[in-house]
Amino acid sequence: MPVLTELASRLATVDRRVAAAAERGGRARSAVTVVAVSKRFDADAVRAALHAGHTDFGESRAQELRRKAADVGDGVRWHFVGRLQRNKVPELVGLVSLVHSVDRIELAEALAARTRAGTNGASARVQRVLIQVNAGEDPRKGGCRVADAPALVAAVRQLDGLACEGLMTVPPMGEDPRPVFARLRRLRDELCARFPEVVQLSMGMTDDFEVAIEEGATIVRVGEAIFGPRPA
Ligand SMILES: *Cc1c(COP(=O)(O)O)cnc(C)c1O
Repeated sequence: MPVLTELASRLATVDRRVAAAAERGGRARSAVTVVAVSKRFDADAVRAALHAGHTDFGESRAQELRRKAADVGDGVRWHFVGRLQRNKVPELVGLVSLVHSVDRIELAEALAARTRAGTNGASARVQRVLIQVNAGEDPRKGGCRVADAPALVAAVRQLDGLACEGLMTVPPMGEDPRPVFARLRRLRDELCARFPEVVQLSMGMTDDFEVAIEEGATIVRVGEAIFGPRPA
């Protein structure tokens, strides 16, 4: 099949699976946003998905995101889903719709300061962020500890220039992700009772996005199920 057709067909399949999982979880399809994680795929792959009607794309490296964003141009909502160093913050602010991976206050402060200053042609506005939580307590994974999340959310939402809209997690590999997703959802429910704007749950990737949706995901981050096997 031509690349474009193949990609459009994979997107349609993911969409059907998302809709079915949402229905099992008692929610509307529109309650779940699919972020197509294009890391290590080229700009042509992003353009093809954009052409097929997809608008949300995710990257895990600042430089790669900048390069692809410049190449692809307008019409994309970019998400940053990877580990973020403070010195990369200026490359992202103004370009990225949602940063999923804020896991420490120093990083949030750097994002807030840069947003207030305005960069990448954007006038000062609000940077939307999620707090990444290491809900599976995996030492190899980023994210703050579950016990530290409430204080971090409370501190981040005080920062001028940021909007803290929810939580994100990456479960440990080779383990049943469902309890980890359920834990993040309970944490979100507790936080949302105190801070009503904390609503988003970014969880689920190619191997487990249906489970994540059943457990309440509002955003899933899906790469290979959309783009095919990722180049090394
Ligand atoms: C790469 C990546 C994804 C997507 O992974 P797939 O297995 O290709 O779906 C999702 N989230 C994060 C944080 C990633 O780094």
